[in-house]
Amino acid sequence: MNNSSGLNKLIFDNRYVKELPADSESENFCRQVSAASFSRVIPTKVSKPLLLAYSREMAVALDLSVSDCNSDYFAQVFAGNQLLSGMDPYAMCYGGHQFGNWAGQLGDGRVINLGEIINSENQRWVLQLKGSGLTPYSRNADGLAVLRSSVREFLCSEAMYHLGVPTTRALSLILTGEQVVRDMFYDGRPKAEQGAIVCRVSPSFNRFGSFQIYTARGELDLLRKFVDFTIRTDFPDLFEESTSLTKTDYLHWFEQVCQKTAEMIVHWQRVGFVHGVMNTDNMSILGLTIDYGPYGWLDNYDPDWTPNTTDAGERRYRYGQQPQIALWNLVQLAKAIHPLIEDTELIQQALTVYNQSFSQGWQKMMADKLGLDHFEAETDEQLCQDLLSLLAEVETDMSIFYRKLALLDVANVDDHYSFDQLLEIMENAYYRIEALNDDYKAGMVNWIKQYSIRVLKDNKTQADRIRQMNRVNPKYVLRNYLSQQAIDKADQGDFSLVNDLLEVMRRPYDEQADKEEFAKKRPEWARNKPGCSSLSCSS
Ligand code: AMP
Ligand code: MG
Repeated sequence: MNNSSGLNKLIFDNRYVKELPADSESENFCRQVSAASFSRVIPTKVSKPLLLAYSREMAVALDLSVSDCNSDYFAQVFAGNQLLSGMDPYAMCYGGHQFGNWAGQLGDGRVINLGEIINSENQRWVLQLKGSGLTPYSRNADGLAVLRSSVREFLCSEAMYHLGVPTTRALSLILTGEQVVRDMFYDGRPKAEQGAIVCRVSPSFNRFGSFQIYTARGELDLLRKFVDFTIRTDFPDLFEESTSLTKTDYLHWFEQVCQKTAEMIVHWQRVGFVHGVMNTDNMSILGLTIDYGPYGWLDNYDPDWTPNTTDAGERRYRYGQQPQIALWNLVQLAKAIHPLIEDTELIQQALTVYNQSFSQGWQKMMADKLGLDHFEAETDEQLCQDLLSLLAEVETDMSIFYRKLALLDVANVDDHYSFDQLLEIMENAYYRIEALNDDYKAGMVNWIKQYSIRVLKDNKTQADRIRQMNRVNPKYVLRNYLSQQAIDKADQGDFSLVNDLLEVMRRPYDEQADKEEFAKKRPEWARNKPGCSSLSCSS
């Protein structure tokens, strides 16, 4: 114990365990847990915690210093070996729809919440360890996580934060010193991998499935208690703490959830993020991106792409379908809270907030991506649809395309503008330049002309347009092949690329002259390589 460590100054408030009903069983074995929101459970100790990386920004948000984070004490605490005074660890009970079917109780099968702190700015942060052993919700699995999936979750949480996408966060990535057996390709060839633990951080980890479980079990008193708790704790600006909540209040809260969800999805579509497993247990009630599993980033713009091999047939969770799936998930949440409102028409009306917010947000987002002052429905709807069809028609790198488009000198695009001129700025955006046919080239040149006419109407300088576009079109995204390279090195004991990627992703919209290699399109060797183009759920 180190008395001067900032860790010992953390103030735990633990409202969740103080106000919600606990499981009465205190033994740790797998079971159905009814009439409770959580079960107390202690993280399993590990043999050799080794800190591989931590997020500076997250540490600051928790009032922790660099030396706090680099201490052995920190590694012990965030590997689950040592509890701080005030910690009261627990796993949460929740259910969910998986791939469209009700799956019953799921719960924190390999996540243990250490407690909730209130920082010096009065912000609430829940600290939770992912991969720290069995809980009552582990079902037939081991409660552990391997290095590769932990690297991916750690890096992506922080990358998304810096990209301005609502997300849960990650404080630390720690090797446990334990071996974990995984059948990565589900082909009957299990192999030992290095175990790791990520400390995830969020104001709340509650999911749509956290509400669904009570309704599915007919525990309506508990449902009401849980919704009231959520509103007071996670939506403090909505109502006075003392107000007793009415049906109208519940509707208003649900509208907020619809709006936050829509905002999150607009951001995903903006940066080319594909979650991969949008089950209702992976949908945060705060509209945060949560549970980074077989997610991926679009290299070439392809609305039909999903990285998740488990979903390769139906492609339920493909990029282009994320907006509709979010709505489907909200409908499931609406059904779950129906008993509190008992008015289907009003709930359906509240649900329309999702489509409204999504389409408004999408239009604003596309206008910004294209450097337009406003989205003029009459002209810009067609302009956007035409562009998205062209991007999908031939393999075009989404991130590179928008960055390069900012460089187009619209004032000099005249009737004679040619595809070769466009290639002067756009060459790198194409994966198969030799495959571009005349029809495509003519279509793209025509689009560039329409676009230039449209931009000129706004009368802004090119410098202003570049600034506007580069604020929303990232130069750097966490490309799948880059994470895989970082993982391959980490497996060999070299963690430098994990830290390099963490560093480059701290400023994703800035030109970073010495980091050009991280902005390159996916190399050919990565086209069909597992981890680079596809991922299994095994983690
Ligand atoms: P996910 O696909 O990560 O959203 O997980 C779905 C459910 O499976 C959640 O209840 C997880 O806690 C649980 N789960 C996933 N992997 C493991 C594991 N290795 N051990 C225990 N539970 C797990
Ligand atoms: Mg999950």
